Amino acid sequence: MKTRYLQFTDRDLAIAGELIRAGELVGFPTETVYGLGANAFDVNAVKETYAVKGRPVDNPLIVHIFDKAQIYDIASEVNSYAQTVIERVMPAPITIVLPKRDIIGGVVTAGLPSVAIRMPQSLEARSFLRAAAVPVTAPSANLSGRPSPTTWQRVGEDMDGRIAAILCGEPCGVGIESTVLDLSSDEPTVLRPGAVSAEYLSELLGRTVNILSDPTSKVNSPGIRYKHYAPKVPMVLELDDDCDKLCAFYDGKVAEGYRPVLWVSRPHRFGGRNAVSMGVNDREAAAKLFETMRTLETEYDFIIASFCWRKNSIYDGPASRGVLDRLMRACGHNII
Ligand code: AMP
Ligand code: MG
Repeated sequence: MKTRYLQFTDRDLAIAGELIRAGELVGFPTETVYGLGANAFDVNAVKETYAVKGRPVDNPLIVHIFDKAQIYDIASEVNSYAQTVIERVMPAPITIVLPKRDIIGGVVTAGLPSVAIRMPQSLEARSFLRAAAVPVTAPSANLSGRPSPTTWQRVGEDMDGRIAAILCGEPCGVGIESTVLDLSSDEPTVLRPGAVSAEYLSELLGRTVNILSDPTSKVNSPGIRYKHYAPKVPMVLELDDDCDKLCAFYDGKVAEGYRPVLWVSRPHRFGGRNAVSMGVNDREAAAKLFETMRTLETEYDFIIASFCWRKNSIYDGPASRGVLDRLMRACGHNII
């Protein structure tokens, strides 16, 4: 298949919309990561999404919309917490999980009675979704297990020749996948951390919003079920910003014959060793996370990441839990 690279012109948006309605797959930008879009009402197109990515079929997809009114077409029940989030937070890098209507097939939700719904903040994303005119399922537009793409060029690396088209938009500003908030019961729960924090949602809803798993715990983490976001080279994670420990580990890897890199908050502290910045705060760390991962894996053969998210550290902020979650999965919970 020859993949078409489309621009955000009226003509190309119309083509992208037609392709979706014809059952084809289209890569498109959102503020979080690039998505791999398919018509949510077309069972074969949705199945093709799993096949093209190599995604486990028990991992449900998120349905993307451009208009809040569409929520009521696909969800059977919208409780008062959901109404608050829909009115006050969306559009945003957040996905809400609600009981589904029959019009959404089990292939979208991996057989679950609930459906995950997201209205992107990105105007590019919404212009594409409007052109599609149907709800669009979209996982990240990478091969399963690889770091998510945050530019159209990275989508091309994984998807060229496999999908009908890629909409070439802006690089993603947020950089990590949406916060997934389960509102299908009266116990709001964050299933996946993202840029919209549980603390913010707790304040908004006037009650504690639980977080499904402690990102540092091996037991609950979905990263154990699915290898995720992994670079092609080995990676470890350090959580204390301990310069001596990081240097000793790096030197050990050099002695073993590796060409390692330190991926850290302040690269100048490492006395001439290969070192790259993780970002100056949690937001920048999120925005650059996957792109840096994909660059480092081509230039080095061992990644030593450090992410200290303690209170008052530079990465303490709304996106820190989401960044930590992605780093934990990327290193396969290999903490030093
Ligand atoms: P992604 O991998 O970015 O496509 O996000 C899909 C994720 O959203 C899944 O791995 C689940 O964590 C979550 N999700 C999607 N649908 C549901 C659902 N019906 N119930 C609970 N979580 C869901
Ligand atoms: Mg993904």
